[in-house]
Order: sequence, then C-alpha cells, then structure tokens
Amino acid sequence: MTDRYAVFGNPIGHSKSPAIHAAFAAQARQSLTYEAILAPLDGFAKAVADFAAAGGRGANVTVPFKEEAHRLATRLTPRAVRAGAVNTLSFETEGIVGDNTDGAGLVTDIDQNLAFPLAGRRVLLLGAGGAARGALGPLLDAGIAQLTVANRSPGRAHELARLFAAHGNVVGCGLGEIAGSFDLVINATSASLAGEALILPAGTYAPGALAYDMMYGPSGTPFLAAASRQGAARIADGLGMLVEQAAEAFLHWRGIRPDTAPVLADLRARISAP
Ligand code: NDP
Repeated sequence: MTDRYAVFGNPIGHSKSPAIHAAFAAQARQSLTYEAILAPLDGFAKAVADFAAAGGRGANVTVPFKEEAHRLATRLTPRAVRAGAVNTLSFETEGIVGDNTDGAGLVTDIDQNLAFPLAGRRVLLLGAGGAARGALGPLLDAGIAQLTVANRSPGRAHELARLFAAHGNVVGCGLGEIAGSFDLVINATSASLAGEALILPAGTYAPGALAYDMMYGPSGTPFLAAASRQGAARIADGLGMLVEQAAEAFLHWRGIRPDTAPVLADLRARISAP
C-alpha cells in the first residue's frame, strides 16, 4: 500500500505543502501520497486519529493546530519540547511522535540558501507567537551573538526571553522599546497578513543587514517594503523557510533530505507567475 501523509489546518485550501512533498517524493523516487485536510476547529484530534486509523504514516500541522498537536503527541523530540508546538507528526507503533521543523527550516534558509552566516550576528525577532518561539532555539544554537525579542504584547516577549535565558543572550521588550542596531531582523508577527507594516526606529538596520519576513507572497510583503525604505541591505520572504521545514519533515519521515533548490525555484516561479 502507498504510504499516506497529509497536512492538517484550518483554513488549508491554499497550502503549498502537497506540491512540495510531491516534488520531494518524485526526486527521491518514493511512492507516497500527500493531501491537504481541512480539520474542523473543534475536531483536530479526531481528524488526525481517523487519518492514522486509515493507514496514515505522518502529518504536518499548520495554523491553528500546532499547540494542540503538541498536546496530542505521546512523545516529543527535544526541539518540539523547546518550541512548545508541533508541526510534524509520525504515527508509530509506540504512539504519536511530535517534532517541530519550523525553526530548523528558518535557520537553513538564512544560513545556507541566502548565504547569510548566523554566527556572531545581532538579531531582532519581531513577534512572540508560535513561529517566534519555534525560531528561538535554532537561532541560538546557530551561534548568534545576541537576540532581542520584541512583541506588541511585551509580556509575551519577556516570557520567551526568560524561557530561553539559559541558552544564550536573549532580552525581551515591547515593539515601542526597540533600541540599537541589528544585522538580522526577522518578522515572525502576523502583521503582514493584515497588510500592516511594522515601522521600526531609524538605525535599526545595521550596514549590510538582512530583513526576513516569515510570510511570503507574489508581490513581497508590507514589512519587506518598509524594510527596504528603512535601510535594510537585503530582504527575503519566508518561502525558503516553508520549503526547508518541509524537507526536514521529509527527512524525519523518510530518512532522506531532498535537494530543496529546484523545488524552491519552481515554487518561486509559480508564485510569481501572473
Ligand atoms: P501567532 O498567532 O502564534 O502569533 C502572532 C504574532 O504576531 C504575535 O506575536 C502577535 O502579537 C503578533 N501580531 C499580530 N498582529 C500584529 C500586528 N498588527 N502588529 C504587531 N504584531 C502583531 O502566529 P504564528 O507565530 O503561528 O505565525 C506568525 C507568522 O509567521 C504568520 O505570518 C505565519 O504565516 C508565518 N509563518 C511562516 C512559516 C513559513 O514556513 N514561512 C511557518 C510558520 C509561520 P501579540 O502577542 O501582541 O498578539
């Protein structure tokens, strides 16, 4: 029987994960199916259980179910424990294993695809939701010098800084309290989804700085447009993160890490096509 995988979310209609995993499977010459499943907001656990009972081998999880997936897993990988959220499930004989590949995908995209080495950098992370929390551990592991987490609700930024204090030099603050210059500014807020830009103080972008938005779209994002105006030397959206987190999930399930470059190039061309 062909191995079955899926992504669960709500909404899920525009998910690019089925196309990405189909491309990985073709490249690795593996026979599998990967579908997008719309789970009811109050029916995630049942939808996952039904899928596993029908022979599902694994699943990705997206908005708004990543924290519920964390609770559903009977065993968590260390990076899922640190992230407090799960985006990758494997249905094993011993139970449900939960992993989080988002932060690793972000770091691989910045460090390798964008050739922007993270070691020694001063980093400003905007946002303190699930995506930000998943990014903290992998960013600190990559050897950054300093991390400032800034959030609209300052208490959540302070809480993240406290949680990760043992892993590196991390401080939390409100969006209005950002001070200093940074080599890398990552937008992990959902402000771009609402079409809103985040206006940062003058001098936030150090010479040569990279502005990175986890969101992506055919015509850039409000955050990246503002970053260019405010002096960021380079800008990048989160399409590479999406493909790299998928590659990490594929590795977790299938034991092979696909070559992401052609898949990302193809996706970029399709997104940009009129
Ligand atoms: P959450 O809902 O968990 O967190 C949202 C965050 O955005 C919070 O910190 C919230 O602040 C902040 N925020 C929301 N609206 C505004 C606003 N108008 N101005 C300032 N801050 C705001 O979302 P996630 O962490 O799951 O996702 C965040 C973003 O990352 C989304 O755009 C998502 O699409 C993207 N993402 C991309 C991935 C990829 O592979 N490329 C993977 C995962 C996420 P507060 O605490 O004050 O409410």
